Amino acid sequence: MHVDLSDTTVLVTGASRGIGRAIARECAASGARVAAHYVRSSTEAASLQAEAPDRIHLFQADLTDLDACGELFHAVVDRLGGLDVLVNNAGVALPLPLDADADTWRAGWEETMHVNVRAAEYLCRLAIGHFTEHRTDSLSERLTDHLTKRGGGRIINIASRAAFRGDVPAYMTYAASKGALVALTRSIARGCGDAGVRAFVVAPGFVRTDMARDFIDAYGEDHVLEGIATDRLTEPEDVAPIVVFLASGRADHATGSTIDVNAASYMR
Ligand code: NAP
Repeated sequence: MHVDLSDTTVLVTGASRGIGRAIARECAASGARVAAHYVRSSTEAASLQAEAPDRIHLFQADLTDLDACGELFHAVVDRLGGLDVLVNNAGVALPLPLDADADTWRAGWEETMHVNVRAAEYLCRLAIGHFTEHRTDSLSERLTDHLTKRGGGRIINIASRAAFRGDVPAYMTYAASKGALVALTRSIARGCGDAGVRAFVVAPGFVRTDMARDFIDAYGEDHVLEGIATDRLTEPEDVAPIVVFLASGRADHATGSTIDVNAASYMR
């Protein structure tokens, strides 16, 4: 099967590093026009763009700020002429021990929910509006869309195994935010199908990135490798092809589903 994303514009949040970077790279390799978002890692973002300067376009925004989320979305649509696929990948995993002082606790919950949930829900809202507005009403075009497996728009939200399994106490904030992202995605899949919107969750287990490194430093490599059925830790490149496949429209009838990428460490 050949997966072709030509004539497809994909916004990937958090594309400067880790999983988002691999997704952006794989989308571009499949022919997509990629809006690669970052916030601080301008050097890493520039090096990503240098890999495919005609296909990868950089956008900077702080996703703790809803106004910045809106500006990001409109900048992508204006510069790239529209949007077909939104990948909410940017995320934070802040350790918040139960005995953290109240200010740290509250600030950690705020930041986590802003980046992992509020930014994602707001971008989803804007994307649904955009997809709905630009959906063709012509039956013949819709049939053509069906045949080419295109039409409407797709949302792919990167959640986590933690949404289903839970996490250690210091990461309950993170797990809660990912649970919210799953419920959001399922609601979009159920409620916005008539508007041609398809929505999916990808739920990785541990993936070798900066985020996982922080956890490994705190809890040890053994904890991360515990229970996985493969001979190595999952890499960002193990997640990216699944996102490309979902983005292509070849899996549209799986809308609402969650693809687990956790090396059999947790099966629902
Ligand atoms: P990562 O390597 O830490 O990269 C995080 C990305 O999010 C970066 O591109 C970063 O941008 C961006 N980001 C962070 N805070 C932001 C903010 N305030 N505004 C805008 N962008 C922000 O993380 P990762 O491991 O690739 O994780 C990607 C996604 O997969 C996350 O949603 C994460 O929860 C999920 N996930 C990861 C794992 C894992 O083990 N790694 C497991 C399950 C799920 P800058 O580079 O510019 O700072």
